[in-house]
Amino acid sequence: MQKTNDKKVVCPICGKEGIVSVDKFKVKGKTYYYLVIRHYEDNKTRRCIIKRISVPLLETHH
Ligand SMILES: [Zn+2]
Repeated sequence: MQKTNDKKVVCPICGKEGIVSVDKFKVKGKTYYYLVIRHYEDNKTRRCIIKRISVPLLETHH
């Protein structure tokens, strides 16, 4: 079985294969999004942060 959503790429930081993903971090009420590469090694998940991104689908409630 394979997930079709997973994009395997070579990580520019550590040079290993990983999966592109977006992580959310909340700081002082603001939400920041980071493009990361997830690596699944043995039974651990490691991630390399590529860059901060702006959010394409931002919810705007007023
Ligand atoms: Zn990496």
